[in-house]
Amino acid sequence: MSQIPQISIVAPLYNESESFPMLIQRINALMDSSPLSIEVVLIDDGSKDDTALRIRQLALTDERYHGVFLSRNHGHQLALTAGIAAARGSEALFVIDGDLQDPPELLPDFYKLLKEGNDVVYAVRKKRKEGFVKKMGYHFFYRILRSISYVEIPLDSGDFALISRRVVDVLNKMPEESRYLRGMRSWIGFKQVGFEYERDARAAGESKYSFKQLFQLAYNGIFNFSEFPIKFMSRVGVIAILISLFYFIVVVVKKMFFAQVIEGFTSLLFVIILFSGVQLLALGIIGEYVLRIFFQSKNRPLFIIKEEIVNREYI
Ligand code: UDP
Ligand code: MG
Repeated sequence: MSQIPQISIVAPLYNESESFPMLIQRINALMDSSPLSIEVVLIDDGSKDDTALRIRQLALTDERYHGVFLSRNHGHQLALTAGIAAARGSEALFVIDGDLQDPPELLPDFYKLLKEGNDVVYAVRKKRKEGFVKKMGYHFFYRILRSISYVEIPLDSGDFALISRRVVDVLNKMPEESRYLRGMRSWIGFKQVGFEYERDARAAGESKYSFKQLFQLAYNGIFNFSEFPIKFMSRVGVIAILISLFYFIVVVVKKMFFAQVIEGFTSLLFVIILFSGVQLLALGIIGEYVLRIFFQSKNRPLFIIKEEIVNREYI
């Protein structure tokens, strides 16, 4: 197989040693039964277990595998970005998680939809096999994001998708530093279609996303794809001014016509505290946007590759 592959399967891995053999077994079965020519790009995101070693051995012995090794842990979105940039699939990239929550066997179904003229076939999770709190969190987050975003980001869909070469080329040209790939993918446009599936539980181990990372991802979704927070704060400001003006008039009228004394300062204190809070919140929200400008203005490379093992015959 020394032509350029039609499809690249792209999977980022961080400490996935336990589920690795099963992942490879299932991908191999898929490749053996598929008429498509497929390469598999596995990205080691600075794993601390022997994931990198396993990818290494595989990429050195099986030419269909392509290993990308990052210099340290960069996080899921950047690992994926590195993999997408390295993938050479001429028709499309099949982006999956390395923990088998996204069944690779769905490739033929996705491919069929791609061939029907869609540029992006994204997976929509019908059911999740995760904890209640996490499920609820995802549920509300996607709905809030959808209602405030200026891009139409589909509900309940993650990064699991089959993406055409021309969309991938655009993705590779987007230099934004805080990445929310599912949003960027929607922003690019063309014809995109959802494919419903049941999201499996992890094959092994625990989620490699810490709560902090998950929040960061949610933040990136909101602040990179919505102007709502900042607009909302200025609206709150206008409403606060109107309320205080109204209150001022009431007090003046009371004093002039009813000779009532202005009441105690509890209410005053309350208003001061309330609006100092609102101001701090507003500053924080502005800060969030400024921070993004700050990081982007450094123009650092998005990820650093330590090593790459690839079958050169392709090139
Ligand atoms: N992952 C990664 N770098 C990280 C965290 C996660 O490459 O810093 C990989 C992980 O190995 C998995 C995929 O990203 O293949 C999705 O992560 P995970 O399953 O932990 O997220 P969840 O499914 O719980 O949202
Ligand atoms: Mg997972």
